[in-house]
Amino acid sequence: MNKTIEKIVSLCKRRGFIFQSSDIYGGFSAVYDYGPLGIELKNNISQLWWKEMTQTHENIVGLDSGILMHPKIWEASGHVGAFNDPLVDCKQCKARYRADEFSEDFNSLDWTEIKCPNCGTTGKMTEPRQFNLMFKTHVGPVEETGTEAFLRPETAQGIFLNFKNVLDTSRVRVPFGIGQIGKSFRNEITPRNFTFRSREFEQMEIEFFCHPTDSRKWYQFWRDRRWQWYLNLGLTEGRLQLREHHQAELAHYSCGTADIEYAFPFLADGEYGELEGIAHRGDFDLRSHMEGKLVREDGELVLETDSNKKPKHRGSGRDLSYFDDVSRERFVPHVIEPSAGADRAVLAFLCDAYHEDNVPDEKGKPRERIVLKLHPRLAPLKAAILPLVKKDGMPEVAADLYKRIKKRMPCM
Ligand code: ATP
Repeated sequence: MNKTIEKIVSLCKRRGFIFQSSDIYGGFSAVYDYGPLGIELKNNISQLWWKEMTQTHENIVGLDSGILMHPKIWEASGHVGAFNDPLVDCKQCKARYRADEFSEDFNSLDWTEIKCPNCGTTGKMTEPRQFNLMFKTHVGPVEETGTEAFLRPETAQGIFLNFKNVLDTSRVRVPFGIGQIGKSFRNEITPRNFTFRSREFEQMEIEFFCHPTDSRKWYQFWRDRRWQWYLNLGLTEGRLQLREHHQAELAHYSCGTADIEYAFPFLADGEYGELEGIAHRGDFDLRSHMEGKLVREDGELVLETDSNKKPKHRGSGRDLSYFDDVSRERFVPHVIEPSAGADRAVLAFLCDAYHEDNVPDEKGKPRERIVLKLHPRLAPLKAAILPLVKKDGMPEVAADLYKRIKKRMPCM
């Protein structure tokens, strides 16, 4: 069977799993709508994730933070300065690419020798320039610099900001985690491969806070646990890969990151696409939000500013350290972050489940059909009630059964 992404896209549209956004207006690039079957499948995935995290794991609690947040957060997190992709344009045909699609080491490429994959012209490519992936918007009625805000590019920062709130209001103690499911937005330069890389997508993230000396142990725990989650829900092990990042790929604060990857049908043989990243983030995030100093001005605590009235540092100036009242030790917890994409999970489960088979019909004629071999817990519909005859009150019996079963599970 030749499983192609075109076949999956077509099935998604025909059967009401996933539609292109704004279809009747000609479509809106890199945004997708989930239809009746798609939303059931996506909900099953995110609800199973939520249950596994907040119910099965004894020390994880949930959160739902805002999509819009204080713009300073994105300075402290590093997103304003570094959440960039390198962009190049072909001056001939106006095609746009991420420079790293040509080479990881794109800075040492001679761009005048590069041939445009779209129009084939050589020597018309611009030098790479950095492009920030965050969507900007304005808060309030006046569009000025001071009213600028961003749509969050990840749900994680909402968790860091609420670290103290959760600690002070629930019974959790380090080690513990906070989980969140929600929409994130990235102005991707080259969105492609259906929902794999879209501009609006859903993330399922855990920030797990632990003592620095235990962080390696927890990193390994989460890496193994998340790998097993995909297997338990039926993804073919042979199409999955757990890839540890090389030392050179790691962020300066990280002592380990692993990606769980799937061999999507739009990739070449031997290539894999990321489903989820599990990152050891050290104390980078909490420390970044702690930066700065609070001073009293007119009786109020405010961030210390320089002579231009700009904050001297990029953080909040608040103490986000943790005091362990058993060991009497104060420390800034280390963080392990399993960060998964709900849309990529839906796509992987759909691709994996897609099967074509040939079953003879009642007259013995071969009949091609497409079957989705989904894990029962993921299946959008759990039962179908189909009266085989239209007499002897059978349709009424079927309708009655349907009404009763529908209250317990999605059925048709
Ligand atoms: P990539 O390298 O593919 O751009 P990433 O490493 O930037 O992904 P993360 O920032 O680690 O991704 O985000 C965590 C998860 O969110 C990813 O593993 C993926 O499942 C999902 N995700 C990220 N960007 C997108 C996107 N544009 N469309 C759909 N899902 C996404």
